[in-house]
Amino acid sequence: MRQQTFFSPTMRDVPADAEAISHQLMLRAGLMRQTAAGIYTYLPLGTRVLHKIQAIIREELNRAGAQELLMPAVQPAELWEESGRLEDYGPELMRLNDRHERRFVLGPTHEEVITSIVRDGIHSYKRLPINVYQIQTKYRDERRPRFGLLRGREFIMKDAYSFEPSEEALAETYEVMYETYMKIFRRCGLDFRAVEADAGAIGGSGGTHEFMALADIGEDTIAYSDRSGYAANIEIAAVRPPDDTEEGTSTALSEEKGFANGEAVATAAGQPTSAVITGRLFYIDEAPVLILTRGNHEISDVKIGNHFDTLDVEVATDAHVQERFGTSSAYIGPVKAPSSVKIVADQAIRPLVNAVCGGNQDEAFYVNVDHRRDFKVDAFADLRMIQEGDPSPDGEGTIQFAEGIEVGQVFSLGTKYSEALGAQFLDENGKSVPMQMGCYGIGISRTLAAVVEQHHDADGIIWPKALAPFDLHLLVINPKDEAQLTLGENLYEALQTEGYDVLYDDRKERAGVKFKDADLYGMPIRIAAGKKANEGIVEVKDRNTGEVTEVQAENLPAYLK
Ligand code: ATP
Ligand code: MG
Ligand code: MG
Ligand code: MG
Repeated sequence: MRQQTFFSPTMRDVPADAEAISHQLMLRAGLMRQTAAGIYTYLPLGTRVLHKIQAIIREELNRAGAQELLMPAVQPAELWEESGRLEDYGPELMRLNDRHERRFVLGPTHEEVITSIVRDGIHSYKRLPINVYQIQTKYRDERRPRFGLLRGREFIMKDAYSFEPSEEALAETYEVMYETYMKIFRRCGLDFRAVEADAGAIGGSGGTHEFMALADIGEDTIAYSDRSGYAANIEIAAVRPPDDTEEGTSTALSEEKGFANGEAVATAAGQPTSAVITGRLFYIDEAPVLILTRGNHEISDVKIGNHFDTLDVEVATDAHVQERFGTSSAYIGPVKAPSSVKIVADQAIRPLVNAVCGGNQDEAFYVNVDHRRDFKVDAFADLRMIQEGDPSPDGEGTIQFAEGIEVGQVFSLGTKYSEALGAQFLDENGKSVPMQMGCYGIGISRTLAAVVEQHHDADGIIWPKALAPFDLHLLVINPKDEAQLTLGENLYEALQTEGYDVLYDDRKERAGVKFKDADLYGMPIRIAAGKKANEGIVEVKDRNTGEVTEVQAENLPAYLK
């Protein structure tokens, strides 16, 4: 590709809201442009990397026996009514009507569509298991789209769904998909961990793991043992009862089970109009106060609202709380609550909210404030957030924290969707039973951003070989110099004949501009035809190590191998 006509506009001054380094670099290097909040256009450089990630995913999934298909982004709302998720999914679900006022959603995920198709197409155990996947654009009206491609409202996902004749078969496929994900993320050059996780809005009965690319910008926190292989999303690791040596009442443990079983609980401060919504409950001057805190996490965006209207509530960082509990905290004081309260829980406090409210809640959900209930407030007080340095859950080592970007997740769903949507089959005994299901997602556009988060320096991106938009970046330093231009043109042809994908900087720009752009783009190898072109010598730079070597042009193919 000749750079003269290659469409990759660089950007010098990135917008102030581009906080994440990957967001900044992808704008600066012209990989993408924002079209609307959380909605992006992928320019040719970005598209090339997406294709490379997709090729790796396709190769590994096909090898694992999965089959590619393609489902629609627009899905009838009735399907979502059948599964119960039209309501459950909440405001993240983008909804639209057609000209006949028929209701549709823009798919945030595809369990409903694929289950309805499999239910109509497979009726016997003889046709199971199957594992299908697609690479598709997904829509989620995220509360806070941010960090560029890391949290978009329109993004590219690979999602796979397996339908199994038995729990054992599901466990096998789950294992295969887990291993396949390990291979995919390794090939993408990511430093990542697989962690035990929470099933979130997908729900389901079985286990689930998330694949976390380690990066400070990550919105998830991983609790891992410094000695064993234990690693879990803090969402599930976070809440533990205090051990005997800690303060607190022991009666809480048995009571806690009630909550974990899904009983929705909100606490009232003695009066029907007042409620405090979950968390680590303390009494301050005899008034129950919910402490929403973990370490130094910022929790300013916690809101309590009535359905989609947000109520004004007191959310504050309180010196009084800090003094008393020795922690930087935000709290929601007693608030006036309507009969149904929406909780938008920050990642950092979601574990507490989940432990108290029961079940696996995603970011937003509703709790009925039932004023007639006996509030079991004492139980909350005994829950404690896990902290760095705690012993671990598997008895080895101590807990450490790391921030991670969730690039993928595998779920063992069980029969949640097959039962709701009636995906039954006749088993070997001729009995009609629901299929066991698994689902498996990879955020492809998010993976692209995560790779940039991990692979860059002050000058720009440093692509891992497997994902680089071009293998080689060839520069002619001064195209007006005949020897340089001839060498450049010859090498451009020769290297492509060797099978390399070459970006060829034939622009009439100053040397400084060319070198700067080359560093910003971050191709693994830069080859410059400059002053020594008349001796047939080029300068080869390794973007990763910075090492520069002079190589005789005719030796270049051998040198690069
Ligand atoms: P998160 O916890 O970050 O909101 P999720 O758990 O809701 O993600 P899943 O339903 O597990 O996401 O979807 C599968 C994958 O899709 C995720 O592991 C992630 O890589 C990707 N993904 C999810 N939401 C987004 C988004 N808003 N922008 C980009 N990628 C996303
Ligand atoms: Mg989400
Ligand atoms: Mg998640
Ligand atoms: Mg997930």
